Amino acid sequence: MGFTEPTAALSDVHSHLQDGRFGDDLTVYFERARARGVRRFVCCGTSPADWKKTAAIAKKYPDVFPTFGVHPWNVGRVEGDWATALKMMLDATVCADGVSGAALGEVGLDFAVRNLDAASQEAAFRTQLEIANERRLPVVVHSVRANDLTLNILRDYSKVPVWLLHSWTATEAEIERALSSNVFFSFSPRCVAPNAVRARETVAKVPRDRILVESDAPTPLPPNGYGKPLSQIASFAVEARAEDGTLLSAPASVVDVAEEIAAIRKTPVDELYRQLTLNEKRFFQAWPTR
Ligand SMILES: [Zn+2]
Repeated sequence: MGFTEPTAALSDVHSHLQDGRFGDDLTVYFERARARGVRRFVCCGTSPADWKKTAAIAKKYPDVFPTFGVHPWNVGRVEGDWATALKMMLDATVCADGVSGAALGEVGLDFAVRNLDAASQEAAFRTQLEIANERRLPVVVHSVRANDLTLNILRDYSKVPVWLLHSWTATEAEIERALSSNVFFSFSPRCVAPNAVRARETVAKVPRDRILVESDAPTPLPPNGYGKPLSQIASFAVEARAEDGTLLSAPASVVDVAEEIAAIRKTPVDELYRQLTLNEKRFFQAWPTR
């Protein structure tokens, strides 16, 4: 089939499996991913509207780790005492293993979104970070065109044990600044797409002991499939598709992402897999237990 058989374990550290396009039975997606060596899955909530489904997925399927939070795109839509509801979700959730709990995410800042001012986004981000800081929870961060402010904010919450800067595009100086907090950088299919020049530069520059992979499922896969035939893409057989027929990422997509990262960094795939295995182990050590 043209896949590189995994020599170690990968984790998909950012996905939205609660998305309706995956349907209610996620078994096929997990089976496909496990067959490719993907063993753990972080499923990120984005607003009170999807937290319950996210929790139910983590309760039902082994090795799914949930996060709850209000995504910057949804900050203008939340009403009432959502922060109390968030605390309740974070405190009450127990995963299928009976041991793991929930982290905070997906939260952050997106100044490419025009319908919401920076002050409201920052206020919601900080409200949520207070909650994570108090509970010493990992945080999954979305930061687009907001790197300077995001990096300043991270430093204000020193009890957060680990930060995941997801699909982050940054300069060398920004990467350097990020490293003063305990950060990991996770890359999605879009970050390694052949035309994603700035994102690929970020992939090339981050320290190797800080790299993780994510599907960001369901996000559209690069239209030309990294220059490979679609039949050679790890998640192809799953056939999750958008309404217009575009192939969407699924947890197995992290295998392709890892191969592309290895190519971008001119590292043998086996060596990258070994490094990713060490990295994901360190990342999950910070995950809350019950
Ligand atoms: Zn996301």
